[in-house]
Amino acid sequence: MNPTPQQIERLRRGINRERLVNTAVRLVEVPSRTGAAGAAADRLAHILESEGFPVERPVSGHPAAPAVAVRFAAAAPGRTLQFNGHLDTVHLPFVPPGVADGRLTGSGSADMKAGIAAAVEALRALRETGALTGGSVLLTAHDLHETPWGDGSQLDQLIRAGYVGDAVLLPEYLNDRLPVIGRGGLTWKASIRRPGPPVHEVMRPRDEPNVIAVGARVVEALTQLDRRLSTHSHPQAGAESVFVGQIHSGEIFNQYPQECRLEGTRRWLPGTKRADVERELRELLAGVARDTGAAIATELHLMRDSFVLKEDDPFVAVFRGAYEALAGRSLPVGAKPFCDDGNTFWSLADVPAITHGPTAGGAHTLDEWVSLDDLERIALLYALTATLYCPHGGGSDG
Ligand SMILES: [Zn+2]
Repeated sequence: MNPTPQQIERLRRGINRERLVNTAVRLVEVPSRTGAAGAAADRLAHILESEGFPVERPVSGHPAAPAVAVRFAAAAPGRTLQFNGHLDTVHLPFVPPGVADGRLTGSGSADMKAGIAAAVEALRALRETGALTGGSVLLTAHDLHETPWGDGSQLDQLIRAGYVGDAVLLPEYLNDRLPVIGRGGLTWKASIRRPGPPVHEVMRPRDEPNVIAVGARVVEALTQLDRRLSTHSHPQAGAESVFVGQIHSGEIFNQYPQECRLEGTRRWLPGTKRADVERELRELLAGVARDTGAAIATELHLMRDSFVLKEDDPFVAVFRGAYEALAGRSLPVGAKPFCDDGNTFWSLADVPAITHGPTAGGAHTLDEWVSLDDLERIALLYALTATLYCPHGGGSDG
């Protein structure tokens, strides 16, 4: 299963750093805030088409930015390895691309257009070297990843429409561990209201609930829930939690407010069902509403479900072997600190998904950067993993 030095050298010669960096720059230079990644998807499709790759544009419920999909198959059958990335960026002012001191900077450079460019370069190397002797690679790129502007629904629809491999690599900016577990997460909002208009506090109707006091009860109830949840924890992924991050109410010190708004998160471990999490939270808030006579409107938004990597899947051994052959050391097992699309691949399609991308920093800030040397490593690692994984098995025997 372990690659030979000849196999590695052959692929290494297929990786063209200048072409890879140029692809990354061309993706970064097209602004693509979440929900409006259409032009960046068009740019990626154009790059691939102009090189002769057959490009599909599945709309997947988001006509403003149809996704990009390319299948590259060897002559012999085998497994399909998917490279998947998101083209959208968080809603911050646009920073154009810059290349200096071994780094690419700019919006989406770290998160995660350069990673997508590395996956594209892996695809090119596989085609040009003829190193893929069986099976196929499926490259997919999409919008609607970043919360709260996106809800992950475009990827959900892509997967449901069959754009899913037997295993998935995601070039997000995490490479110091093999993520084998991750918490699921949702954001919650509660709006507590009383019926009457805002009035001077000396005039306040005594039969209406005090929304700030009700908000305090909600905080207390959630704090108690968090204490109970904290006993359910995993050595790497951490504990389940419910968190209050914001509370807002009132205009001035002596006006009786109409509304108190709270927002926060809830995180859970694999094995806990998302539906149970949602029910528990809704029931807790409904209970406070009943006890106090206030109206509480609750909104829950899924970030991503929880994540597990099936470590006994053959893909995991193949990936670890490829990583070790290039790095000269093994990759320690750890938790995935964030929710990403790997969680979706696990929860919707039950396929092994490994998040592993270039060394980068500044994600979700104005100072994003990615290491150019490490982009080359990712391109080589992805291509090598494909040559080791895809030729075996038939179709989806995974
Ligand atoms: Zn990302």
